[in-house]
Amino acid sequence: ICILAIESSCDETAAAVVVNGRQVLSNVISTQIPIHTLYGGVVPEIASRKHIERINQVIEEALKEAHTSLDEIDAIGVTYGPGLVGALLVGLSEAKAISFAKDIPLVGVHHIEGHICANYIEDKTLEPPFLCLVVSGGHTHLVRVKDYGQYEILGRTRDDAAGEAFDKVARAIGLGYPGGPKIEQKAKEGDPHAIPFPVAKVNDSAYDFSFSGLKSAVLNYINGAKMKGETINEADIAASFQQAVIDALVGHAMHALDEFGGDKFAIAGGVASNGTLRAAMQEACERRGVRFYHPSPILCTDNAAMIGAAAYYEYMSGRRDSMSLNAVPNLALGQRVES
Ligand code: ATP
Ligand code: MG
Ligand code: FE
Repeated sequence: ICILAIESSCDETAAAVVVNGRQVLSNVISTQIPIHTLYGGVVPEIASRKHIERINQVIEEALKEAHTSLDEIDAIGVTYGPGLVGALLVGLSEAKAISFAKDIPLVGVHHIEGHICANYIEDKTLEPPFLCLVVSGGHTHLVRVKDYGQYEILGRTRDDAAGEAFDKVARAIGLGYPGGPKIEQKAKEGDPHAIPFPVAKVNDSAYDFSFSGLKSAVLNYINGAKMKGETINEADIAASFQQAVIDALVGHAMHALDEFGGDKFAIAGGVASNGTLRAAMQEACERRGVRFYHPSPILCTDNAAMIGAAAYYEYMSGRRDSMSLNAVPNLALGQRVES
């Protein structure tokens, strides 16, 4: 089964050709990061316009790189949520138009399910069940992947997502957007134990996260230092903040592993490309004899290959969408809005 996948939920316009969910023939990503950097974050209206300008060419390139044409495509997988509604609609409208014109089945895909499925591309032997930590710009979910397409959310963030916290702290110390890679870079020169930022805890749930308190602690620390006329050490702040996030993520993940057992643990989403986080997870998993799975950095941040992987398993389970499939900005993981 050869799938053309399209992704446009945020600030990456992407298309890919994926065979049987795991073999990537092409993975074209046109990122808008340089444009949004000028504004310190993603501007939804600009994102939609840029998707419109680029989507046709991105799809053409994906087909060309895969040495294939629409005549050989068995299904079109497209992200229909969650994400920015205007951005989602660009990819979705394009997918519907191709599906209608060429009479190719349409399969709606959940963006976060896509992030999780990136692991299937990276390691062809990985099969459910396993535990997965999704850490992206808008989500922080600890998920039990029970089977293909079957998810149980054990814990989630109560406020900011992990990636969002990286972005906000980066802005506060003047590193710019997107914050994740910049904090990771800056942290390499700093001491992760220099400043004791609080590791977020949520009282009534062992698996839920909270990152807004940590973000406030960093902001208070910076303001406090400024008022006392002290200079701040950005590298120490970056390293200490990153360590606090990692401690929370690893702590919750290992707690879930101890509770639910299993011998496989995966991470997914943009923050999963963080090398320090990956090393900490790897070590914690090894100590428990658990195999650790992680997509390559290019498959962690937004891309269409992961959407092609998710679309394949949805297609195999019989999902087919009609021309009335709509964008669902707040689509929950495991929720299916069919058309
Ligand atoms: P969502 O998937 O929740 O809808 P999104 O698609 O915007 O949100 P992703 O593309 O998965 O999110 O990831 C982007 C996020 O990952 C940003 O918040 C970015 O700062 C973060 N990120 C990227 N690289 C790193 C890194 N090396 N370390 C930490 N965070 C990172
Ligand atoms: Mg992005
Ligand atoms: Fe994403």
